Amino acid sequence: MEEILYKSTRDSSKTVTASQAILKGLSDDGGLFVPTKLPVLDKSIKELAGMDYKGIAYEVMKLFLTDFTEEELKNCIENAYDDKFDTKEIVPITKKDGAYFLELYHGATIAFKDMALSILPHLMTTSAKKNNIKNEIVILTATSGDTGKAALAGFADVPGTRIIVFYPKGGVSFIQERQMVTQKGDNTLVVGIKGNFDDAQTGVKKIFGDKQLAKELEEKGFQFSSANSINIGRLVPQVVYYVYAYAKLLSDGEIAEGEKINVVVPTGNFGNILAAYFAKNMGIPIEKLICASNENKVLFDFFETGVYDRNREFMLTNSPSMDILISSNLERLIYLIAGEDSKKNADLMKQLSDEGRYEISDDMKDKLSGFVGGYSTQQETCAKIKDMYDKTGYVLDTHTAVAAKVYDDYVKRTEDKTKTVIASTASPYKFTVSVMEAIEGKKSDEPDFDLVDRLSRLSGTKVPNAVEEIKTAPTRHDHVCEIQDMVNEVKSFLNL
Ligand SMILES: *Cc1c(COP(=O)(O)O)cnc(C)c1O
Repeated sequence: MEEILYKSTRDSSKTVTASQAILKGLSDDGGLFVPTKLPVLDKSIKELAGMDYKGIAYEVMKLFLTDFTEEELKNCIENAYDDKFDTKEIVPITKKDGAYFLELYHGATIAFKDMALSILPHLMTTSAKKNNIKNEIVILTATSGDTGKAALAGFADVPGTRIIVFYPKGGVSFIQERQMVTQKGDNTLVVGIKGNFDDAQTGVKKIFGDKQLAKELEEKGFQFSSANSINIGRLVPQVVYYVYAYAKLLSDGEIAEGEKINVVVPTGNFGNILAAYFAKNMGIPIEKLICASNENKVLFDFFETGVYDRNREFMLTNSPSMDILISSNLERLIYLIAGEDSKKNADLMKQLSDEGRYEISDDMKDKLSGFVGGYSTQQETCAKIKDMYDKTGYVLDTHTAVAAKVYDDYVKRTEDKTKTVIASTASPYKFTVSVMEAIEGKKSDEPDFDLVDRLSRLSGTKVPNAVEEIKTAPTRHDHVCEIQDMVNEVKSFLNL
């Protein structure tokens, strides 16, 4: 197998192995790690169609993580995709109203983040062993609501690791916050910040880049890594389910061999849709990648105009996990469409941090023809949830509904009949209040957990364990801090 190394999007002169890239999370120059070459599948899709989720996970991940042995990687996969998921299929596909919903929310914390974060701790500890790391690894994470809990669930009580999560206080759903602040495990810390997700993410990146702090950490036997989708160890496991979806549609006879499909992804930090782009590059016949935004439609505007401009009002919406104006993973795409020119990419990223905007060149724009942008307002999202429920009885969460609405608009505009997979990124239970408001047409003043029970009756689905277990769980984390105090929270947790 061809060895794949990783280099930074801001400096191509050095390379690291996959396990080193996973351990570091972010490159020292602030860039993101990208593979020196995007691998292509070495098995036919027909062969893959005969495999289960774990089998396909191995076939995809082995091509990216070439310094892992077969035994190491298979071990990681076995330990990740087990009965933490509430279905043996891991990701069921449900056909409703003319589209295929790829349900990525059957893991421990009922959002798609579980797909990668149930395996990341295993990849991380394996990487530490391979590289003879004796330091304790401190996972530093900014969350718009779902990554935090999924990372906490994955890393809680994992020997040799600690995990610190920063979330925007007041910017996540009730269930999301309860899930995080009730987290057990002596190695966990959850802190709300007085700011939005972009503030949390920028703060975390700053702490990563703090050379003085890194020195102090080293002296005390710690080193940072990231559980955000800036970590290649997050991105690679996310490629798997797009390959799986295609293989499964083929084996179920829903599509013919080689038939092209479209994929719609509700997008915030651009990680999930970038994984779909990688799957396409590996040889999965994907025609259009449809990038769905909420009212924070910085990506929609980017695909329309070639200008990325974060200078706008930040909106809190009913799809909070997509309330983001700085989509970190777009940097990987920018780097690739700039012809892997790290200097050009670094210049654009500098403009983004100095002026909050940049514009790409015409030949870069030409390379984006496989992407389509769209967005849905909060009202449209609610109307989509209601419409789908009335028509089919199927309940979408607010994020998936953004994607479904954007897909409706796309079909109306283009009359494109290509079969389409919609990434379903969360269980409706995670956003019960917004979902019930959409279905019932009014805000309820009932307690949130009563609404959960009503959602269960109305949808005919069982309340997920992830929600049952927080009904009575005590609060274990109640810190709230100013943005500029994030670093002090880190230091005090680590006794620095
Ligand atoms: C994180 C998240 C998204 C956005 O995914 P990105 O990879 O950040 O684009 C969408 N929906 C849900 C429910 C999420 O948790």
